[in-house]
Amino acid sequence: MSEIATTLPALIGAAQQTIAEHAEEIAQLDQAIGDGDHVSNLQRGLAALAQQADAFSGLTWAAALQKVGMTVMSSVGGASGSLYGTLFVAMSKQIQQQAMSRAVLAAAFWQGVESVKLRGKADQGEKTMLDVLIPVAQLLARPESQGYPLADLIAEVKQVAESGVEATRDMIATKGRASFLGERSKGHLDAGAKSSQLMISAIADVFSAS
Ligand code: ADP
Ligand code: MG
Repeated sequence: MSEIATTLPALIGAAQQTIAEHAEEIAQLDQAIGDGDHVSNLQRGLAALAQQADAFSGLTWAAALQKVGMTVMSSVGGASGSLYGTLFVAMSKQIQQQAMSRAVLAAAFWQGVESVKLRGKADQGEKTMLDVLIPVAQLLARPESQGYPLADLIAEVKQVAESGVEATRDMIATKGRASFLGERSKGHLDAGAKSSQLMISAIADVFSAS
């Protein structure tokens, strides 16, 4: 069996599980400063991905991530659907025919996050998922990260993602629905930052177990 046939369904399953476990919390965050649909948007997308698990068998990482991105775009509604979809499609384009490695993943994630920034016309500090995605991409892209013991790198990824989501609490949203609230968006974590942090941590745990 190919590496993808076992790894990708495990990653999708881990993401699905953590979002299910934190569904109420994510729903409340999006209710506070958005329209409350973020968790159901994500769960629809993750269920669509889980259904495709068998179809990933035999694909290259680039082809599989392209499929993930297209599935996410067509099944996840809201702003987050096109943004998460863009992340995976751009990762796929960056990887092309390369075999997966830490350096390839770091470069692909970097490019994916750059594409999300362009797509959403947003950057760090605007109270979005980018407040988690950007610091994680920067950490992975550091030259030192290549030689790190895997367990230490994973612990650092999780910690950076948690700091990223926590930093959104005091930000004023300038992108997405929360921006309609201006100053009143302060004091709440961003739902998309929280869901990104949860999925990154769950995926990191799958890699640490393998
Ligand atoms: P919608 O806002 O359309 O209801 P969701 O609720 O699924 O979509 O997703 C909202 C999340 O999307 C926000 O919490 C934020 O993290 C993210 N988001 C919204 N707009 C942008 C943007 N321009 N760039 C990056 N992320 C964004
Ligand atoms: Mg919403």
